[in-house]
Amino acid sequence: MRTLRTIAELRAALAQPRREGSRIGLVPTMGAFHEGHLSLMRRAREDNDVVVVSLFVNPTQFNEGNDLAAYPRDENRDALLASDAGVDYLFAPAVEEIYPPGFTASVSLGAITEVLEGAQRGRAHFEGVATVVTKLFNMVAPQVAYFGQKDAQQARVIKQLVHDLDMQVQIEVCPIVREPDGLAMSSRNVHLSPAEREQATALSRALRVASDLVEAGEYESDAITAAARNELDSANLDTEYFEIVDLETFAPITTIDGPALAVVAARVGSTRLIDNQQLSTKSVAGQYAGAVAAGSN
Ligand code: AMP
Repeated sequence: MRTLRTIAELRAALAQPRREGSRIGLVPTMGAFHEGHLSLMRRAREDNDVVVVSLFVNPTQFNEGNDLAAYPRDENRDALLASDAGVDYLFAPAVEEIYPPGFTASVSLGAITEVLEGAQRGRAHFEGVATVVTKLFNMVAPQVAYFGQKDAQQARVIKQLVHDLDMQVQIEVCPIVREPDGLAMSSRNVHLSPAEREQATALSRALRVASDLVEAGEYESDAITAAARNELDSANLDTEYFEIVDLETFAPITTIDGPALAVVAARVGSTRLIDNQQLSTKSVAGQYAGAVAAGSN
């Protein structure tokens, strides 16, 4: 595996494989790799001739300076893990390479970016995501890019981006990888104290409560949400939102009558965590239990 720092190096490295018609897969990340990231890389390795992983802690998508400053970084460890996962190129540019002096562009996508994460973190969050992903797609020009269902709204925003701007890249959304006790893997989990780590399991429990209720025939969002919030409150979490939303629009649903998504964001101490679970009126709870046992969702 080679680590590349500049756009010129990246383009030079990909020129020949591209000429030869190789299939190039991209996994955009912010580093501090865990099994969630590695599952995307392994999937990319299976599907492609050339695998590029970008490692860039994108300052424009952070709404809190502390969160950016405290974001875990360990490039040497990440490089070893990516190499083990069969990655060909780790693209790890400096901030000035991506945002040189005079940079002014911003990609804005409207409604889907304004609810939930967009409402909590502000409009700039998904603008930052959409702008950096647009740049990465232009730099790498991959046939396919891999994102995690863990950040369900982000994946939906990227699909909107590709659709609206006619980008020729296929978007693959990969399942959530969880710890054995259900906690969704996240780079931010390293900030949790042992007591907070225990509290944090309430997010996946609350989602489980929701999917169990749907499985049992409860389709009213108010009732489901109240039970899920109860689970979060019992663990003393500071819940930002727990909502049942439409899979496509992320707009709130009153009565579930088809595939829906339960989404949650909560603070555990000073760490902000998100998670989600697809709900369907047919047997979701069983699938969830099986997926957790298998280490993914
Ligand atoms: P990040 O480095 O947090 O920006 O994440 C990079 C990619 O990995 C994003 O597409 C995330 O959705 C994905 N990802 C993060 N955590 C997980 C997880 N637990 N399971 C699956 N994918 C994940």
